[in-house]
Amino acid sequence: TEELLRRSEKLSVVGELAAGFAHEIRNPLTTIKGFLQLLKKDTDTKHNEYMSIMLNEIDRLEMITNEFMVVAKPQVANYQMEDLHSFTENVIQFLQPQALLKKVEMELHVEDTLPLIYCDRNQLRQVFINIYKNAMEAMPDGGTITTKLWINDEYISISIEDQGTGIPENLIPRLGEPFYTLKEKGTGLGLMVSRKIIESHDGILIIKSKMNIGTTMIINLPINKKE
Ligand code: ADP
Ligand code: MG
Repeated sequence: TEELLRRSEKLSVVGELAAGFAHEIRNPLTTIKGFLQLLKKDTDTKHNEYMSIMLNEIDRLEMITNEFMVVAKPQVANYQMEDLHSFTENVIQFLQPQALLKKVEMELHVEDTLPLIYCDRNQLRQVFINIYKNAMEAMPDGGTITTKLWINDEYISISIEDQGTGIPENLIPRLGEPFYTLKEKGTGLGLMVSRKIIESHDGILIIKSKMNIGTTMIINLPINKKE
């Protein structure tokens, strides 16, 4: 209990600070990104390359600040009926530039005609991005990320499978603890936020992993959840 308490304290204090911090960082980031994009248009190839790198780093910073902001400040929920098929296509398309850069191929298999799901599009987007980001980071030499969607009883199942490093079995239960990260530059917030969002949709997140073979994240979201 003490450990739990300590952890939730750590989260609320650090979380609140981080949210304010993240918010303050976003505006200057947007400005820098804008000017870089402008500069990139009229410079020679070598500098162009540097600017691409900087732009990618800015994208990364944006993602981290977004993660932080979701933790401490869950925005007002906006639930609507969504088609997960086109939703997933859309997220994958958004990540395509990063995937290309990392030699990652994104495959999508939709096995059924899916009913609409009552969900918060922006929150779910965050979940998918977190999971895809982890998958890419687990495959430094590239590989394939396979996404499958199917109907599974009263749930829609989404599985996202990578060919990455895998996670040691004894560590799987710890994933999703705030700030628990095995990465030098990790935040350890992605899975915690994702799990929180999935649970607020009455769904579940299942993690399966084999060392040196890969990891599969399965999200189950209930069908017919509209009240
Ligand atoms: P972060 O990515 O910032 O470290 P996350 O909460 O997203 O934080 O993930 C926590 C940890 O879980 C990661 O540091 C990593 O060790 C492990 N992990 C998550 N997804 C994967 C994956 N697909 N393959 C291997 N390890 C993973
Ligand atoms: Mg992550």
